[in-house]
Amino acid sequence: MLALAPVGTPAVAAEPLKAVATFSILGDLVKQVAGDHAEISTLVGPDADAHGYNPAPADARKLAASDIVVVNGLGFEGWLDRLIKASGTKAPVIVASKGVKPIEGDDDHGGGGHAGHAHHDDPHAWQSIANVRIYIANIRDGLSKVDPGRAAEYAANTKAYLATLDGLEADIRNAIAAIPPDHRRIITTHDAFGYFTAAYGLDFIAPQGVSTDSEASPKDVARIIRQIRRDKIPAVFLENVADPRLMQQIARESGAALGGKVYSDALSGPGGLATTYVAMMRSNIAAFSAALGKK
Ligand code: ZN
Repeated sequence: MLALAPVGTPAVAAEPLKAVATFSILGDLVKQVAGDHAEISTLVGPDADAHGYNPAPADARKLAASDIVVVNGLGFEGWLDRLIKASGTKAPVIVASKGVKPIEGDDDHGGGGHAGHAHHDDPHAWQSIANVRIYIANIRDGLSKVDPGRAAEYAANTKAYLATLDGLEADIRNAIAAIPPDHRRIITTHDAFGYFTAAYGLDFIAPQGVSTDSEASPKDVARIIRQIRRDKIPAVFLENVADPRLMQQIARESGAALGGKVYSDALSGPGGLATTYVAMMRSNIAAFSAALGKK
């Protein structure tokens, strides 16, 4: 049997790593760095909402079989710690957002004054490309530690992807610059674009807070409708992870245009417009430009 083993080939080379990413956007980022050297599974799939996700037994099995687990952090996966413990996995857990400067999110936009009202870090850091550069470096370091034999490849993949991100970022800045300044305001279902606003200067207003756990109150909805009319906000957008009915109601009652679908917290399924992070950002900016671009 010994004769069958190829001479000089390290044992690790034949086996792809088993990587688990908590949600679809992160799964794509891991793929960009790992290339073909990892079998990547995600817990929360395309078009699905990671806030308040209910893990299934299959998720624990994925974690138990994994060599590396990549998570967003910033409180995004509130259900994860229990799941990891239950799974018994010994795989290292890489927090992709480690080193990102968090911005504060407000979970209670209505200011309704219920007890326990709290400020949290806004978890949606991937909406800024500067942050995704940090994600990619953390993923590269994590993969290289688990699989040091391929560290040079992970570094090369990272370098190539960072160049792609540079091009993407330049295109987003140009697209925003082409939108008249007084049109640079959008309504979305939940507050997922705080980092995008901070980086690129397009304002988002949302009836829900930074999580989708709680529903918008009638008071929040009425406030948004008043604001749309008062500030002449041109468009409201459907999110791929949210129930469309709230935005449809707001569009109908405010007279704002329905500006199509944006991808906030998840990629699209296969064949959709946002099957990768880069495609997602390009699809979103195209939708914003189409709705806001004209005077
Ligand atoms: Zn979200």
